[in-house]
This record gives sequence, structure tokens and C-alpha cells, in this order.
Amino acid sequence: MIETKGYAAQTKDTPLAPWSFERRELGPHDVQFDITYCGVCHSDLHQIRDEWNNGIFPMVPGHEIVGRVVAVGSHVQKFKVGDLAGTGCLVDSCRTCENCQHGLEQYCLNGNSQTYNGLEQDKKTPTYGGYSNTIVVHEDFVLHIPENLDLAATAPLLCAGITTYSPLRHWGVKPGHKLAVLGLGGLGHMGVKFGVALGAEVTVLSTSPSKEQDAKALGAHKFIVTKDPEQLASVTGYFDFILDTVSAEHDYNQYLALLKTDGVHICVGAPPTPSAILAFSLIPGRKSLAGSNIGGIAETQEMLDFCQDKNIVSDIEIIAINDIHTAYDRMLKGDVRYRFVIDMATL
Ligand code: NAP
Ligand code: ZN
Ligand code: ZN
Repeated sequence: MIETKGYAAQTKDTPLAPWSFERRELGPHDVQFDITYCGVCHSDLHQIRDEWNNGIFPMVPGHEIVGRVVAVGSHVQKFKVGDLAGTGCLVDSCRTCENCQHGLEQYCLNGNSQTYNGLEQDKKTPTYGGYSNTIVVHEDFVLHIPENLDLAATAPLLCAGITTYSPLRHWGVKPGHKLAVLGLGGLGHMGVKFGVALGAEVTVLSTSPSKEQDAKALGAHKFIVTKDPEQLASVTGYFDFILDTVSAEHDYNQYLALLKTDGVHICVGAPPTPSAILAFSLIPGRKSLAGSNIGGIAETQEMLDFCQDKNIVSDIEIIAINDIHTAYDRMLKGDVRYRFVIDMATL
């Protein structure tokens, strides 16, 4: 077994603290890479607090993982020692169901293996994430990371990047479309970058007036403070799509009113509490309320290649791992500019 150092929550009520555990010896198709950087996703916070009621403890969070390959199994074809490598939210899936066969491992019908707070395909071995020094993953779930991009700023592409890229591609966002990005945090700022790169007119809908300059610098064409009723009313019936990245309870009906006829409100933000939706928020304009979960492995590689071509990375603040709780506190206040990334050398 491979001795591994990490940071874990032992229960939903205990803070993250150093913890040692073992990763499996390399199988013939496994890649081991030492973790250089790991992004901090709001999902890490939801899960260590068990807000989604599916926690497996001890929990080592982290699913925006990049580093360099240090060992490969005897049959590995896609990687060699020294290559940059990355892993996002998935480390395996059944590979045989209809969705897996179509590159939709995120919707595996037999249950995929999340990178942490999940189980391997044996359905009993827990998975541990990227707040750690090294990881072993089947080569089919390891991504090639572009060498020309800043490595730390590339880590968040593995979740915040693919989670916003995938729905924009699925719904065919293109020039002529008006896209709103609701919430300017880790996911939201990537949604702005991708929306702009795909040629849409992008508006940020934010509770934080102080983020206006940043939104414009990210390429957004408009900025609306959602707490200001007049500003909000000025975009009634305006958008083709709303990409909703909000992590906390909010009133969907209020935002559905901003869609055009046939508009789509796409939920990627995952508040832990249920919401009341009025059917009449959808009926008059034949509107859709939809959701989207990360992206498949092939699409994640496509997104990374797109970022390489367009020179897109995340805007980040690098932290030491013992600052993780301060980072979480700031994240809860909406004060992320725009993704925390842990320098794993500080472990
Ligand atoms: P984040 O960096 O904390 O950003 C969330 C943003 O939402 C905040 O910066 C804030 O932006 C806005 N916000 C927060 N509370 C709000 C409230 N009460 N009302 C309105 N706006 C509020 O979080 P993240 O990492 O981007 O993640 C966002 C959500 O997506 C989380 O729930 C996460 O679990 C989920 N997620 C889903 C997937 C998926 O596959 N579907 C993948 C990754 C993450 P403003 O200051 O601009 O208002
Ligand atoms: Zn995430
Ligand atoms: Zn499957």
C-alpha cells in the first residue's frame, strides 16, 4: 500500500486536520501522481458538513487535482512518468451502462465512483480526495493537463471549469444568445469566461456590488445587483439562459421571470434545502428549469483542450493547507476571488 498524507474531517462536526491513510498499490492500468495543487470547491464544504446527507467519514475532500506522474502500471498507455496529470470529480464508473457508453460517466446508471466521499466500483472501498500528497487513479479517469497554462490556475478547471462548460455546450450557447450567470464565485467566474469565449452576451447577476469591476474584467457585458429591484426589473424577459451557480437558498421564481419565452434556467449550484417553484413561473413563457452535473471524461479533456487553445484558466488565490478554514469562512460570505487553490507543498 502507498502511505499517504492528507487533511480529513473525521465527522461532520470536526474541523479538517492532518490524517494519514493508504492508497492502493498500482494495478496494471493505474497512474500515480503527486499532487501539486488542489482547488477548493463549495461542494467540499457542503460535504464535510454533510449538508447533502450522504457523508462517508473520515472524509478527505478535494476534486480539482493536478500534479505530475510518479509511477504507472505495467499496461498504462496514456501517461508516462513526468507527465502533468489531473483528476476531477470522478475516479471510475461501471463503463458498461448506456450513459457510460456515451461518455456520460457523471450519470452512470450503476453509480460512478466520486473522487472523494464515494466508493470504488467494488462498492465498499471509500475514496479519498485531493487534499493529500499523492493519488492513484485508473488511467481512463486521468486527464492530460496543458503544459502552456499556469498549473495552479488550471486545477479549478477540473470541477468549476467542466461544470460550467458542459451545460453551455449541451444547450448550444452561441453568438446571439443572452446568457446570465447567477452568482460570481468559483463556478460563476468560469461560466463568464466560457460564455464570452462561446460568443454570447454575458450578464452577471450578483448579490455583491463590489464584484462589478471584476465581472467586467472577466469579459461580462453587463452587471446586475440582484438586491436592487430596479436593476433586476430592467432584465425581465431578457435572457435565453440563466446559469445558476448559487450555493445557498434563493428564490428560483424571481429569476425565472428574467427568461425569454423558451428560456432555460440551468441549476448547477446545489443548495441543501428544498425550494418552492410556482408552476406559473414556467407556464406562460414555456420555460424550462434544468440541471447539470459536472461533465464526462472525454468532455473534460475537450474543455481542457479548449482552455489550452483560448488561454483560459481560473482566477485564483493560493493558500496553505492550514488556512483552509479561513478560506471556507470567506467562501461562505461570498468572498472568493475567484477560487482558492491549496499549494500542496504546504501539507
Ligand atoms: P462559491 O465560490 O462559494 O460561489 C457561490 C456564489 O453564489 C457566491 O460567490 C455568491 O456570488 C453567490 N451566493 C452565495 N450565497 C448566495 C445567496 N444566498 N443568494 C444569492 N447568491 C448567493 O461556490 P462554487 O464553488 O462556485 O459552487 C457553487 C455551487 O455549485 C455549490 O452549491 C456547489 O456545491 C455547486 N456545484 C455543483 C456542481 C455540479 O456538478 N452541478 C459542481 C460543482 C459545484 P455573488 O457574491 O456574486 O452573489
Ligand atoms: Zn466541485
Ligand atoms: Zn455506467
